[in-house]
Amino acid sequence: MSALPAMSVATADPDGAELVALHPHLSRHAMDGLVMEQVPLQAVADAAGTPCWVLSAGSIRSRLAHVRAALAGAGLDAAVHYAVKANDHLAVLRLMHAGGAGADVVSGGELRRALAAGIPGAAIVFSGVGKTMADLQLALASGVGQINAESAEELDMLAAAAAATGRAARVALRINPDVDAGTHAKITTGRADNKFGIAYADAPALYARAAGLPGLRPIGVALHIGSQILTMAPYRAAYARAADMVRALRAAGHTVDSVDCGGGLGIPYRGEPAPGPEALAGAIRAALGDLNVQVAIEPGRWLVGPAGVLLASVVLTKSTGGRRFMVLDAAMNDLLRPAMYDSWHGIVPLGAVDAVAPTAAVDVVGPVCETSDTFALARALPALAPHARVAILDTGAYGAVMSSTYNARPLAAQVLVDGARWSVIRPRQPVEALWADEQVPDWLAAPR
Ligand code: PLP
Repeated sequence: MSALPAMSVATADPDGAELVALHPHLSRHAMDGLVMEQVPLQAVADAAGTPCWVLSAGSIRSRLAHVRAALAGAGLDAAVHYAVKANDHLAVLRLMHAGGAGADVVSGGELRRALAAGIPGAAIVFSGVGKTMADLQLALASGVGQINAESAEELDMLAAAAAATGRAARVALRINPDVDAGTHAKITTGRADNKFGIAYADAPALYARAAGLPGLRPIGVALHIGSQILTMAPYRAAYARAADMVRALRAAGHTVDSVDCGGGLGIPYRGEPAPGPEALAGAIRAALGDLNVQVAIEPGRWLVGPAGVLLASVVLTKSTGGRRFMVLDAAMNDLLRPAMYDSWHGIVPLGAVDAVAPTAAVDVVGPVCETSDTFALARALPALAPHARVAILDTGAYGAVMSSTYNARPLAAQVLVDGARWSVIRPRQPVEALWADEQVPDWLAAPR
């Protein structure tokens, strides 16, 4: 093997043991290697193959309970509407429902998923910048508890949907507080130049307009400033603006009963300091606590992100161009976040012996024909032989939901662990399913 140039490994990065320690549902066993709750992940990979998503039911339950306890501890009677987009599997939605959460949905499909999982319409909030007339009618017919409107145009559509269905719409105005959440540009949503929400200055006039439209019942305001937010200052600024808006609307004679505080609470992918639910609850309490409003939040990532891992096997390790590459059987079509957001995910070996072997810098990549199919650069990992396995951490949110079948790669299997038991909750997609729905026109198939 040729001599490799020194690669910079960020010294601040947590090592494998520290990464595992950050996840209470993960542990290392001297024989079994990486264990989730009481299930050795090697056994899951043996049975279900790789790539394979594995979620901890116990982690999801305890994270939801943690959020609810933080809100209650701050003296808030607040509803939690789980942001379905983070992980929309029916089993996850069932866990959320059982744990007392409603749902935040952004499409007719997500709405139907939430209903199919048993979440009642009244516990569902419908957000999103481009709801269609069909979406709005479905929402009203399903008795959705709140529709967050994002434009004057949508208010008119909603009035038409209310007339068509004969159902009144409980509507909140999603205001754009013009706050920079300090997160990745592709997941910031609360700045004035983002497509989301109603310009702050326009909100009072639109609230009045909504109050005058037949079939619409304005109940409050909503905001969501972005995702993977790791500091409290943007939240404080946004909630202060929401509180000012509530006061201004009430001063103008409107009824304002609720404030939807959105989601966005970040998680420490890289072991970085991250405010928890207590800090969020404290910020809500400080800004809105004395306004006598029903408060709700819409967390997604915080509830499910750390609960999930993506298991992958090493295909081969190669050296080229002065770099060492570890090629996995998982790829950007499975986990898109690193390619899309340059996001950092912990990667730890599954095997007990591998976990304590000496490490060297390696680029961890998938087999897809894109250079962006890179999970990590110059990551300190042991030299893993073909078929050795790794777990890519914190993939419970915006993981399986964002998968595609690019390069004709079937969707990976999904597994749910709960204590000592585990089940496949979505079998690996058979490769034939990729073209099963495709139709070749007769005129192309017929011999000439
Ligand atoms: N609510 C809305 C309206 C969203 O668009 C999102 C996602 O961006 C969320 C909630 C959930 O965000 P997160 O998963 O960061 O908590």
